[in-house]
Amino acid sequence: MNVSDSEVVARLLSDHGYRPCDLPEDARVILVNTCSIRENAEKRVMARLDYFGLMKRQDPQLKVGILGCMATRLKEALLEHPAVDFVAGPDSYRHLPGMLGPSPTAPVQVKLSATETYADIKPYRELSRGVTSFVTIMRGCNNMCAYCIVPYVRGRERSRDPLSVEEEVRDLFAGGFREVTLLGQNVNSYHWKPGDSTAPVTFAQLLERVAGISSLLRVRYTTSHPKDMQDDVLRAMARYPNICKHIHLPVQSGSNQMLKKMNRGYTREDYLERIASIRRILPGCSISSDIIAGFCDETPEDHAQTLSLMKEARFDQAFMFHYSQRPNTLAARHYQDNVPEDVKIGRLNEIIALQNLLSLESNRADVDKEFEVLVEGVSKRSREDYFGRTGTNKVCVFPHGNSTVGNYVRVKVKSCTAATLKAEIITENNRS
Ligand code: SAH
Ligand code: SF4
Repeated sequence: MNVSDSEVVARLLSDHGYRPCDLPEDARVILVNTCSIRENAEKRVMARLDYFGLMKRQDPQLKVGILGCMATRLKEALLEHPAVDFVAGPDSYRHLPGMLGPSPTAPVQVKLSATETYADIKPYRELSRGVTSFVTIMRGCNNMCAYCIVPYVRGRERSRDPLSVEEEVRDLFAGGFREVTLLGQNVNSYHWKPGDSTAPVTFAQLLERVAGISSLLRVRYTTSHPKDMQDDVLRAMARYPNICKHIHLPVQSGSNQMLKKMNRGYTREDYLERIASIRRILPGCSISSDIIAGFCDETPEDHAQTLSLMKEARFDQAFMFHYSQRPNTLAARHYQDNVPEDVKIGRLNEIIALQNLLSLESNRADVDKEFEVLVEGVSKRSREDYFGRTGTNKVCVFPHGNSTVGNYVRVKVKSCTAATLKAEIITENNRS
C-alpha cells in the first residue's frame, strides 16, 4: 500500500520539477511514508527521524516531511520532533507541491476524504524498477476490527473507477510490466456504481476485466476478507489462467471467542468453509494468512484453537504478529491488553514454529513438480541465479541459463527450504 502511495507522491512532485534520488544524503527533501499498524513500525520511523535530525544540523536547508498513517494519527505533535517540517496524511498528497513551494501552505494537512482515490494520477513507476507492480483499487476501510488502526488513519472505504484501473494496468503492460497486484484492505467489498442506470462493478468483474488485458500479464490481489469473499471471485480465478492461484485470507485467530472480540464478522467454521470452497473450486491454489497472538483475554485454549486451525487450513505461508495495542482502537477503548508480553511472544513463537513446518511440508510437496515462473530478477544470494515466483506465490531460485527478466520460464523443482523452492529451467522463454 505504501509503495503504491509513494509512487503517487513521486508523480505529484515530479510534475513540479522534483526528481527522486537514491540516497537520503543526496536529497533536498526527504519524505517518510509511515505505517501505524503496530508500535514497532512507528518506533522504526522515530529512529529514522532522529537520524534525519542529525542530517538537518549539517544542512539546515534540508526539508523533512511525514506522510501516511502516522501523519493522521499524530498530526501537529510530529512537528515537535526537530527533524520534521511538514506532515501530510494519506488523502492530502495533492497539497505537497504547495507545502514545499516558495510561499508554503499550512505545514499540517491530515484531513481524511470520503472520495479521494488519486485515480487521475499516473504513479511514478520508475521507483520500482522491476516487472511487477502494485495498483491501488480502493482506499480506506469500513470494517472495525477491534485491534486495527487502519480505519482511523486511512478513513472510509472508497473504490476507484474501474476504467482508471484498467488504463493504469494497460500502461504498465505496455511499459514492460508482467505482473500487477490489485490492492485494497478488503478487495471483496470493491463496489463501483457508475450511475443509477448501470449495475455496480464488483471485485470479481474488475478482476476479470484486468485479467482480460493480456494473457501475458499475471494478476494477483490482496487482501481478501473471510466474511466477504464469495465464490464469484473464485470462479473468476478459475476462468483465467493468468490470475495467480494464491489467496491471502487473514484469519487472525482460530478461536470463536477471539474472532467475536476482534469483531471479524465470521466464525472458525465459516472460515474453514471458505477454505473448503477454495480447495473445491481452485485445486492447487495456495493460501496464506495473517495471525495475531495474544489479543486481549486470549487463553491457552484460544491459542490452542489457533494452532489447530492452522493445521486444518494447512496454510502455505503466513504473516504472524503479537498483538500490539493501538491508541483509540475499539480494543484500546474497551478491552484490557492483559496477555503478558512474554506470553504473547511465547505463543507467537509456537505459531511461527508450526507455520515453518507447514510451509516446509507445502514446499516439499512441490519437489519434482513443474511450474511456470515469471523471472523477476537476480537472486540476492547468488549472481548466477535468477529468482521469480510461482503462480502460488512461492519464491523460486534457479540458474538463469539464457532467460531474461520479464520472461516466463518453465521450471522443475529440485529441492526446497521452508522459504524457497530451488529449481532448474526446463523451457526458456516459455511465453514472452
Ligand atoms: N486489511 C487486511 C489487513 C491489514 S493490516 C485484513 O483485514 O486482513 C495487516 C495485518 O496486520 C492484519 O491482518 C493483522 O494480522 C495485523 N495487525 C493489524 N493490527 C494489529 C495490531 N494492533 N497488533 C498486531 N497485529 C496487527
Ligand atoms: Fe484493519 Fe480489519 Fe480493515 Fe483489515 S479489515 S484494515 S484488519 S479494520
